[in-house]
Amino acid sequence: MDIKKILEYQEKDRKVINLERELDSSEDKKIYQSMQNVAKDAQARSASLDKTAEDVVRDYNNLKKAFEDNQKLLDNLEKKDLDSLDEKGIQDLKELTNKIVSNLNYLEKKIMAQADSVKKILDEFDNTKKRYGVAKAKHSEHKQKFEVEKQKLEPEIQKLQAELASLEKGIDKELLSRYKAKRTDKFFPIFVPLRGSSCGGCMMELSVAQIEKLKKNGILECENCRRYIYLDN
Ligand SMILES: [Zn+2]
Repeated sequence: MDIKKILEYQEKDRKVINLERELDSSEDKKIYQSMQNVAKDAQARSASLDKTAEDVVRDYNNLKKAFEDNQKLLDNLEKKDLDSLDEKGIQDLKELTNKIVSNLNYLEKKIMAQADSVKKILDEFDNTKKRYGVAKAKHSEHKQKFEVEKQKLEPEIQKLQAELASLEKGIDKELLSRYKAKRTDKFFPIFVPLRGSSCGGCMMELSVAQIEKLKKNGILECENCRRYIYLDN
């Protein structure tokens, strides 16, 4: 099996891989991608705060309404003509008044606590909005920087890819399709020489039977790292 051509192809492809790795490990890319997540989280938080705010505001309004109702009741009681009441009536009125006053006190505390919750939610809402804005700005700044980086490397990658495409014509189809299937796995190199009696990729020692098979077929897929081992001679 003639593997010289695929090795030549692999050497050229190594340059593409290195350029791709350079782009992949770009700090700007890392930053803009992480900012994308920060912005997404902030958006999700805003939506959930929105929902919570609705509930809290509804509770607040209900409490206010209850307070006003009690206040009205109290006002009406205070207008009552005491002279028309007997002692029992006065006693009842006093008890009712006390009850309403205690209700009002209770409601007032609840309302204050609820107002506090509303304020906290609004504050967090503000902070979340700021967080979103900062993340968005950072995202676009670093994405732009990354695009500049990419545009610098892109012509070189394209040139190499064109050269690879013309090399492909001379390569055994079976070998090429095996190569391409592995290349997507992101390990490189895909074809490695036999080193002594070990895989040149992961250095795992091959058995005598495996070496025999390699000699017979020209290449052997390593059981450990899944690269193709070839005879280096
Ligand atoms: Zn291996």
